[in-house]
Amino acid sequence: MIVFDLACVCGYQFEGWFQCREEFEAQSKSQMLLCPECGSDNIHKILSPVAAVRSGACVSEVPDGAAGSAGNERIASTLARLQDYVVKNFEDVGTKLAEETLKMHYGVEKARNIRGVATEDEEKVLKSEGIKFLKIPMPVKEEEPN
Ligand SMILES: [Zn+2]
Repeated sequence: MIVFDLACVCGYQFEGWFQCREEFEAQSKSQMLLCPECGSDNIHKILSPVAAVRSGACVSEVPDGAAGSAGNERIASTLARLQDYVVKNFEDVGTKLAEETLKMHYGVEKARNIRGVATEDEEKVLKSEGIKFLKIPMPVKEEEPN
């Protein structure tokens, strides 16, 4: 998942979320990218040094340790925005992530955005089923004192 800062000729600026760089370019070329403010397709990317959770290939999985290894604050802030997005838009199913994902995969349940935790074994099952999932390091919730 990549987030780009986009700007319209009218001056409106907004964020666009894409699977990968190629998807952004395809949408941009086919004029599918429209300004939410004025509807213009004259959108350009605001160049920012690092706007990608993971640059390069069209892969949805963030490798373990990717966030911490570089010690890059810009990556950290992008990660924080991704975490915020996931928390707001994905239903928390906790430890039932693999179970719920498989149910959706087989059409037992309606497809929706979910988040949660999975064990290594569960991840292997999901992978063997060809299910794509995004792994992002989440901040550990601090225990609230009574
Ligand atoms: Zn506009």
